[in-house]
Parts: sequence; structure tokens; C-alpha cells
Amino acid sequence: MPLKDKKRILLKLSGEVLMGEQEYGIDPAYVARLAEEVKAAKDAGYEICLVIGGGNIFRGVAGAARGLDRTTGDYMGMLATVMNALAMQNALEQLGVQTRVQSAIPMASVCEPYIRRRAERHLQKGRIVIFAAGTGNPFFTTDTGAALRAAEMNCDALLKGTSVDGIYSADPKTDPNATRFETITYDKVLSDNLKVMDAAAVALCRENHIPIVVFSIREKGNVARVLDGSGVQTIVQE
Ligand code: UDP
Repeated sequence: MPLKDKKRILLKLSGEVLMGEQEYGIDPAYVARLAEEVKAAKDAGYEICLVIGGGNIFRGVAGAARGLDRTTGDYMGMLATVMNALAMQNALEQLGVQTRVQSAIPMASVCEPYIRRRAERHLQKGRIVIFAAGTGNPFFTTDTGAALRAAEMNCDALLKGTSVDGIYSADPKTDPNATRFETITYDKVLSDNLKVMDAAAVALCRENHIPIVVFSIREKGNVARVLDGSGVQTIVQE
């Protein structure tokens, strides 16, 4: 499905893709490469919302497993997403792209607070808006944050750029018979408990009729390929 008819997209990148080949943190060279892809999509005429995860720095669940209070860990995870958002903002601005970071947790001296109408105005002016700090609440994920912002900002599609090139019938690493779905319904993703996004995010997209496009961001040029319909991907829809 080419997304040419779509005007406004939300691109969700898991924090891990910012690591590049590293095992932790942010690789500025890799972030610069990602920023080029985002810029190309903007130059192609799309209005772009960005949500970046924090898994390259901190996850609340991992903190809890090592004795940290879960909610404290989740707030730390949300703060990690703000660092990633700033790294991406920096990379985009180095390419001359105007951006604004809006955080679900207000931090006035770092970035704007999330204000939907203001974000709308930024998009209308051609700026890329990076939504940071997920939903602002513990026990959620940035996937849910992405689905929420996609719904609030009336996005035509949610693109999930991750390490795998779509949704498979089984784990392709362990099952040689695993096949990739071209399209799949929200209901099947939920009923089969396919681990592509958390259930809250999928349900939110279902309710708001927002297609989810799962693709690999590891391969250079894939954002453009997904948008023009020539990419390898799985589309979650009705
Ligand atoms: N997080 C949270 N609420 C949110 C979004 C994120 O508590 O609305 C925390 C949570 O601890 C999560 C971490 O931030 O593990 C990083 O986000 P996520 O795991 O979604 O990042 P990704 O897997 O996309 O890199």
C-alpha cells in the first residue's frame, strides 16, 4: 500500500535504533543517518510527527528487575526518551530542518510542554514535532505514546521503524517456517498476542482507524520505500 495519499504521518522509532552498532546509548552518526531519512520524507511533502523510545538508555521493567521501584524506573525511562528526542532534534537541525520537541512531562528549560494545538501549529508551519516522554505516565510504553499522539494529531498512519522488517507468523530467528504478513488485522495481532506493539497501542489505533506500518529502519532508505509503496513491511489495519 503506497502511503502517497497520506499527508500526516507519525514515525515511531524504538530507542534501540539510535544505538547504531553500539550496545548502549546514542550513536550520533547513526542518528544523523536517521535524520536524513526523516528530512527526505518531509521534503517529499509529508507532515511529520516523531516519537522515539528510550530502550537504548533505560527501561522501567529492567530497572524493576534489578530492585528499582517500577514507577521510578518508568520515569527514568521517560527521561531517557527526552535525551533521544534532543539528539534527534539536534541532528535534524544540522540538516536545516526546523523542529520542536514537546515533552509529556513539562521541563520548561529543555523543551516545550506537550500542547496539542501548539503542535498542530508547528506542523502547519512545516516543522517536525518530536513528542518526548511517552504518555507522561508510568506503566505505559512509547508505542502507546505514539498511538495516542497519532490519534490526537489526526495522523493518517503510524510508521513503526524497528529492527525487524514486519510481523511474522512465528519468531523468524527460531522457526524457519515463519512467514511475514503483508497485511494483518488489528484483531489478529491482539488475539494472537503478536509482539509487535503493546496491546494498548494496537487497540488505540484500531479505535481510531490508524493503520500501523511495521518496517525495518536498519536498512537505509526504508522510510522512503515504505512511503512510496516499494518497501518490505507489514500493515496492520481493519
Ligand atoms: N515509559 C513510561 N511511560 C510511557 C512511555 C515510556 O513509563 O508513556 C518508560 C518505560 O519505563 C519504558 C521506557 O520509558 O520502558 C522507554 O520506553 P520504551 O520501552 O517504550 O522504548 P523503546 O522500546 O521504544 O525504545
